[in-house]
Amino acid sequence: MIEDSKLDQVYDPEAFRTQGHALIDVLADYFKSAQQRNIDQAIPYQDPEESYTYWNAVWQGQDGLDPTELFKTMLDRSTKLHHPRYMGHQVGVVAPVTALAGMVSAILNNGMAVYEMGMVSNPMERIISEKLATKIGWNAEEANGLLTSGGSLANLTALLTARAKCSDIWDQGTDRQYAVMVSEEAHYCIDRAVRIMGWGSEGIIKIPTNEKLQLDTGLLEEQLTKAKTKNIEVIMVIGCCCSTSAGSYDDLHAIGAFAQKHNIWFHVDGAHGGAVLFSDRYRCLAEGIEKADSVVIDWHKMMMTPALATSLVYKNKQDSYMTFHQKAQYLWANQTSQDWFNSGKITFECTKYMMVIKIFTLFKVYREQIFGDYVDKVYDLARTFAAHLQGQSDFEIAVEPESNIVCFRYLPQNPDQVNTINLAIRQTLIQEGRFYIVQTTISGKIYLRTTLMNPMTTIEDLMELISSIRGIATKY
Ligand SMILES: *Cc1c(COP(=O)(O)O)cnc(C)c1O
Repeated sequence: MIEDSKLDQVYDPEAFRTQGHALIDVLADYFKSAQQRNIDQAIPYQDPEESYTYWNAVWQGQDGLDPTELFKTMLDRSTKLHHPRYMGHQVGVVAPVTALAGMVSAILNNGMAVYEMGMVSNPMERIISEKLATKIGWNAEEANGLLTSGGSLANLTALLTARAKCSDIWDQGTDRQYAVMVSEEAHYCIDRAVRIMGWGSEGIIKIPTNEKLQLDTGLLEEQLTKAKTKNIEVIMVIGCCCSTSAGSYDDLHAIGAFAQKHNIWFHVDGAHGGAVLFSDRYRCLAEGIEKADSVVIDWHKMMMTPALATSLVYKNKQDSYMTFHQKAQYLWANQTSQDWFNSGKITFECTKYMMVIKIFTLFKVYREQIFGDYVDKVYDLARTFAAHLQGQSDFEIAVEPESNIVCFRYLPQNPDQVNTINLAIRQTLIQEGRFYIVQTTISGKIYLRTTLMNPMTTIEDLMELISSIRGIATKY
């Protein structure tokens, strides 16, 4: 070994113990002060160049740093999801115990694709998939599922499965034009997946939405007929459960019935709102989901789990094995057998981190009920907030919230200024950093958008947001 190699230090258990204890203290202090609003800023905004200059100086500076100092700086300069005034993007406010589970996965690094490298996580993955299948209303014994790296990849995987089921494209290629039907409010990853598969613009048929921003199911038949006359084969119809931008739940009953009638694969994108399956109060929003052939749910959004952790579940086990019928001699003894314990056979990933242990831990430590409690809390709050906004003459909401997403805008005296003023409000809020909210465009209008992800956000926080907005607006 070279004389000054640090290799033995890298693997020194005692150094890890010391660094680990120090880090846990830093993290516990961080989310305590964020949670209690002792830190004023939910987002310590820096513009990209400023931020680059800062990190480049660290990079150019001395090596051999104390990791705790480095971690502290990362915390200070990041957006704080545990802050109750965080109400921006729909990324989960992590239950700390899941981060501990993540550390276990990080140290073990069992890659999961083959059974020997996933003796803990492969069985757990099966259990969690069976759990979801039951929640959806399927027969868990006939279903199958997998965890994968995000909703985008999960949706692509489902599309690949549907495509494999109706063609021999895997071995033969094809010149047929396939397409998917989906609401125009769907997440952009569907559009991207279609283009990745080589279907081009013709491959995605975006169905207009009704006034509640739900897919207008009355248009499905005519759109299908239109596609057929153009020789386009619709092989999947997708229901949003819920949509990303405004959080609207499509009518899954109607879409499912349409899919059944025409023998088309019915996929439900429940990346965000599939969590309602765990809530007695809001489960009704997902009615009809049991008609689906496949369902996607992100654990890292509404299920308090760190990114990325996404479930893709199939109603019929057979389907799950169709996606990638590929041979890998060095991985699997039997290439064609449908063994659930070699999860690499049905996932895009080869090496995959043990994402499931975070979920399994959360269930076992806090019980299933917390998922429903979480949904109830943040969905209720969205309704309270929207009702309050409706009582204000200087605000309007885009649509009554079905989920925890509220899109609204400030109405200035001069209606011509409405878009510019709302853009300016959002920009000023970010720069002040006390609130983190985002923006969206619905029918060409700019809206402010809050996703109430943090169960510790209160209606008082939202009242404060309203007065901050008014304060900013008066300066224009
Ligand atoms: C967030 C989201 C996605 C994308 O999921 P990622 O995990 O971010 O890749 C897809 N569909 C919907 C409805 C979403 O809300």
